[in-house]
Amino acid sequence: MREKNLLSGQKEKELSLNQKGIRFAKQAVKSAAGLLYPPRCPLCDRIIPLGKGRVCGECQRKLPWIVQPYCLRCGKTLDSLEKEYCRDCLSHPHEFTQGIAAFRYEKAMRVSIRRMKFSNRREYLDFYAEAMVFRAGKWLPLWKPERIIPVPMHWMKKNRRGYNQSELLAKKIGELTGIPVLYHAVRKLRSTKDQKELSGQERRSNLKDAFEVSGGLSGIKSVLVIDDVYTTGSTMDEISRTLKCAGVRNVFFLVAAHR
Ligand SMILES: [Zn+2]
Ligand SMILES: [Zn+2]
Repeated sequence: MREKNLLSGQKEKELSLNQKGIRFAKQAVKSAAGLLYPPRCPLCDRIIPLGKGRVCGECQRKLPWIVQPYCLRCGKTLDSLEKEYCRDCLSHPHEFTQGIAAFRYEKAMRVSIRRMKFSNRREYLDFYAEAMVFRAGKWLPLWKPERIIPVPMHWMKKNRRGYNQSELLAKKIGELTGIPVLYHAVRKLRSTKDQKELSGQERRSNLKDAFEVSGGLSGIKSVLVIDDVYTTGSTMDEISRTLKCAGVRNVFFLVAAHR
């Protein structure tokens, strides 16, 4: 079983019945597609024989899952069980309520996520979405998000790239969890500079008022925002601020990797 391989050594019972139903219904379609586009390991990009899981055996053993202790606000790995929050969260109050990441953003993850974003390796999305849902297993029943919202991309950037990886992740996570996805509830109003080239303060001003709620959130109190990577939290904070202005009380997030 693919997921058994992906999640080996972890509790499979945390997967919901909903996930299992969807998985089996899609199996036949996937098998046919697999002959044309053989699945590749999202970490080393080697072709994996059909039915042998989403990750090759070698990379499976090295997956940098985030395990306890991690920050109870942003999900970053902590170096001591005594701590509850990371230094960043203690010094900067965040707008979001809580969030978690599936993996640490180590070298293999960086390369993999870059391939997913810039080299059209969209087939990696299944792996990331399943890993994210697995990581969120114990949190989703506590958070009870009513809607899923992908971090939006400015339309010009999306046109250039051809897709928004956060939207595609949100779609799959919606299918796996049964939580409805709102694709257009938040819009990115303007093109912003690449966040990774900026300092913390510059990141915040770069994103100021960059998002707008465009509807679909009436009466919604709790949402789950999906993105690929959490860096300093500036994007998550600005989206959360925008959503809270529109009446959402709790903004949670789920990302593939945490820097
Ligand atoms: Zn591999
Ligand atoms: Zn933190």
